Amino acid sequence: MGAARREIVAGSQAVRFSGAEDSAVDPVARMARYAAAAVALVLIGVLHEIPRVDGHRVRPGTTVAQALSERGTYEKYCGDEVDVAGVVLRRCGGLPPAVTVRKRTMGVDHAMGWGERAKIGRGSDVREPAQEFLTQSDDPDDGVTTTTTRYVLGSISGKQADREQVTVAPAKVTRIALTFDDGPHTNQTPQYLKLLAAYHAHATFFVLGDCAIGLSGLIKREIAEGHEIGIHSWSHRSYAGLSTEQIRSDLNRCQALLNRMGVPRVRWMRPPYGAINARVRAAIVSRGYHVALWDVDTNDWQKPPAGTIASRIMRGIGDGNVILMHDGGGDRSRTIAALGMALPKLHERGVRMLTMSQLKGLEPAPPTSLVVAEEAGKTKLTVVRVKVTVDGRAIDPPPTTAKSEGQVLVAAGAVLRAAGVECTWDNKFQTLNAKTPAGEIVLRANSRRFTLGGVDALATASAIEYEGELLAPIGLVVRLLDAKYVMEKDGSITITTTKAK
Ligand code: ZN
Repeated sequence: MGAARREIVAGSQAVRFSGAEDSAVDPVARMARYAAAAVALVLIGVLHEIPRVDGHRVRPGTTVAQALSERGTYEKYCGDEVDVAGVVLRRCGGLPPAVTVRKRTMGVDHAMGWGERAKIGRGSDVREPAQEFLTQSDDPDDGVTTTTTRYVLGSISGKQADREQVTVAPAKVTRIALTFDDGPHTNQTPQYLKLLAAYHAHATFFVLGDCAIGLSGLIKREIAEGHEIGIHSWSHRSYAGLSTEQIRSDLNRCQALLNRMGVPRVRWMRPPYGAINARVRAAIVSRGYHVALWDVDTNDWQKPPAGTIASRIMRGIGDGNVILMHDGGGDRSRTIAALGMALPKLHERGVRMLTMSQLKGLEPAPPTSLVVAEEAGKTKLTVVRVKVTVDGRAIDPPPTTAKSEGQVLVAAGAVLRAAGVECTWDNKFQTLNAKTPAGEIVLRANSRRFTLGGVDALATASAIEYEGELLAPIGLVVRLLDAKYVMEKDGSITITTTKAK
C-alpha cells in the first residue's frame, strides 16, 4: 500500500505518509512484493486445506487413530469396558473415539484427506457380558405381593447388580389341595407321582392300611417327594357303622403300619365315604387327627371321560379348596389322563397345589421364590429326592437332588450343614455363604461361578435355586468339604469327609 500511496504523491512535494523505508520506485522490487503476496495467499490457502483432527493439523493420509495417538489424546476419547455396576474394568476396552467428518460418522481408521476436519467425541463404554435372570419372591408380609427383580451377573467381574424391581400384587393367589384316596396302588400311584412332580404339585394321599401293606417303598417315595400321607381307614369300612372302640383300633392299626414305614407324622384322617357324625368325629379327633373332607368331588370313581374329570377339577378351583380324587380302588386311567390335562393349566395359572397341612397352615408351604435363569431355563432339571448320608448320618428329610447337564446337583446348604459347616442363604443376592475348612465361599444361584476366599472360580454346572434350596454340583460341594462321595445303585449318595476318618 505504501508503494501505491507514494506513487500518487510522486512528482509533487515529497510528503511521506508512511514510515516505510524509503526506496526508489523499483519495478523489480514491486514485482517481488506481488509475488510474495501471492505465495502467502497460496500458503494460507494450502494451510487452510491441511486436514485437522480435533483441531490439530495432521499430514494428509494420517488416520484419525494415529493422529490422536501421536498427540496422546486417544485415551481421553476412548470408551471403557465397565462392569455391571458401571465400574471401569479395562480402560479403552469400550468403543473407540467417535469420529465425525463432514457430518458423517467415520471409523478411527479413516485416513484424513485434504480439507477434512475430524470432530472427535468420546466413544461409548461397553458393559461386560452379563447373564440376566429374574427372581420372584412373595412378600413375606402379605404373602400375595410378588416382587420380580431383574438381576444381571457380570461374567468377567462376577458382580451382581439388580437392574429393575417390579412389585405386583396379583389379583389373588389360589391355593388348593389335591387329595387321592384308596391307594396306594402298585401301578397307578407312580403315574400320579410322576405327573405331580412335573408340575411342582404337592398332594395328600389318604391311604388304606390293607393297600399299603408291602408298599412301603411307594409310601416312602410319596413322603420323599413332598406329599403328605393321611389315613383313610384300614379296609374302607364306614366308620359310622363301627363302634367308637372299633374306630380307635382301626386308626391305631393304620398308624402302627405307617410308623413302621417311617411316615413322620400323620395329621389327617378322611373317613371312608365321608361318612361322619358327631360320635365318629369325636373318636377321630380324640386320637389326635383332623378330619379331612373335601370341597370338590370329581366323582372320578364313576369313571366319566377324562375331559369331564379335568373340567370338574378346573371348575373346582377356588382358594382353600380341597379336591377329591382316587389313585386306588379300581382302574384310575381316566383320573390319570384328567390330571395330565389339568396340571399344566393349574401350573400355568400359578395355582399353588399344597398338602392338606400346608393348605390349612399347619406346616409352612414350600417357598415360592423361583429363579429363572438363562442357564437354568435352558437346562433340563430333573428333580428327585434321594437319601444323602454325610459321615454316616442320613440327612432327614432327604434333600432335593437334581440332574442337570449330566451332573448331579445336591442341596448345598443341607449337605454343608450336615458336615458341620455354618452357612446362610442370602435371598436378596441369591447366594449361599459358607465358612468351609477351605475358606469362606460364596455360591451364587444360576451361575457357574463361585468365590472361594474372595477368588473367582468356575464350576462345571450351574448352581440352581430350587424351592429355596441352592442346588450345586456335587463335585464342587465335596471339593469344598475336602470330601469324597459315592453314588449307590439306588441313587442315594454317601459323602465322607476327611475329618470322619
Ligand atoms: Zn375311599
